[in-house]
Amino acid sequence: MKIFNPANNEVINEIRTDSLSSVQEKYNLALIAQRKWKITSLEDRIKCLSNFSKLLKENQEELAQVLTSETGKPINESRGEISGAIAKNNYFVENSEQILKSDRVSNDETTKEILSYDPLGVIVNISAWNYPYLVGINIFTPALICGNAVLYKPSEFASLTGEKIVQLLGEAGVPKDIMIGVYGEGDIGAALLELPIDGVFFTGSHPTGVKINQAVASKLIPVGLELGGKDPLYVTDQIDDLDQAAANAVEGAFYNNGQSCCSVERIYIHEKVYDQFISAYESHARKLKVGDPLDESNSQGAITRSVHLNFLQEQVSDATSKGATILCGGSAIESSGNFFGPTVLTNVDHTMSIMKDETFGPVIGLMKVSSDEEAIKLMNDTSFGLTSSVFTNNSKRGLEILSQINSGTGYLNCCDRVSANLPWSGRGQSGLGSSLSKHGVYAFCHPKGTHIR
Ligand code: NAD
Repeated sequence: MKIFNPANNEVINEIRTDSLSSVQEKYNLALIAQRKWKITSLEDRIKCLSNFSKLLKENQEELAQVLTSETGKPINESRGEISGAIAKNNYFVENSEQILKSDRVSNDETTKEILSYDPLGVIVNISAWNYPYLVGINIFTPALICGNAVLYKPSEFASLTGEKIVQLLGEAGVPKDIMIGVYGEGDIGAALLELPIDGVFFTGSHPTGVKINQAVASKLIPVGLELGGKDPLYVTDQIDDLDQAAANAVEGAFYNNGQSCCSVERIYIHEKVYDQFISAYESHARKLKVGDPLDESNSQGAITRSVHLNFLQEQVSDATSKGATILCGGSAIESSGNFFGPTVLTNVDHTMSIMKDETFGPVIGLMKVSSDEEAIKLMNDTSFGLTSSVFTNNSKRGLEILSQINSGTGYLNCCDRVSANLPWSGRGQSGLGSSLSKHGVYAFCHPKGTHIR
């Protein structure tokens, strides 16, 4: 499989992909190895993951260069992703022992009742390209700590990074048949689902998530789906520093070129502050500098998948044909790479794709509302439910609004943020199950009850 650099569309590498037979062989190896791994002490398994954090740190610059070369992510954001990944990995290293400890749960003196946790077995992790370290660690780190073997298929758009992850986990002490890389496109992902696996954990788009859920339905195995979003942000009329709010909301929409599951994808603004906010928003958006992702002065790199440029253009055209106004950007930038101008649209409404369908790129719609009720109604007018934000000085009002929004995560005066301490879960078309926090450890175990008399 050829690997392209999205910043110039040149081939930078080639990798050997898997076949139906190599996938089966890898599964057979994992099945045997997992019997030993699950009886390796929890302490020793955690030690390997702790070593992984050290190796990420030691190799950070090289890993960041590889990540930028295959995804087009600005180099500083690649470095930042690896720092964030180390912090997340450390959360599991530091907390898993406490989360997984067996518990005597009954007060009955005649019978001991013990709650403990068994690993699932051999699990499949099919991953996305937009944050291969961050979304990968949500899955493979707790899965390995819990004693599972992992067949890990990175995205075809982040395969070099996937190979690095597998290599470093091996150097960290995870046995080579416990963390096995599987490489290729969707057909290889689909082949993994045919195996007698014990769980599947997927990060990617809603349509693929549905296919995966359907493919394994008859196996009755745990399924985790971390899917897309159409995340709203609401600016109320009670706000001191509108300029700061606009700067935050620009970053939330355009970080990683808008290619984050929890990117801000639509903004509602109270009519009393609308004009002032729009003007601040446009001014911050115009400061974004697009270009070579290896040049540290650029905040916007390349769009990872070249075909996505057409989708972004279609969303802009759909909006303008129905009356939207372009404040800045609006089209791809002529070049050999996949660059799209950061685009801000006003006069938008919910008949337009830009306010309803996941954009996953540097295009945002801003809409005026006249009350909290209207904002809540519009924020909930979506089939997704990943995150939502409210900006206001009045935290009581902000929390009350957030309590009425159907999403797995709420943000008050912030956005586009993930913490390992909190569960990460989507509702509706944003997914199934939860990663991170203690819930993201239990996801990789079967709870077991033992009665001892
Ligand atoms: P995608 O669905 O195109 O691909 C994801 C993975 O699935 C890839 O590895 C691909 O090879 C594989 N795949 C494709 N078809 C398959 C099939 N039939 N069976 C098995 N595997 C198959 O998604 P993408 O473009 O890599 O990622 C972008 C999407 O991921 C966006 O929607 C984004 O919001 C979402 N995402 C969600 C989260 C989250 O935490 N909720 C995090 C990151 C990305």
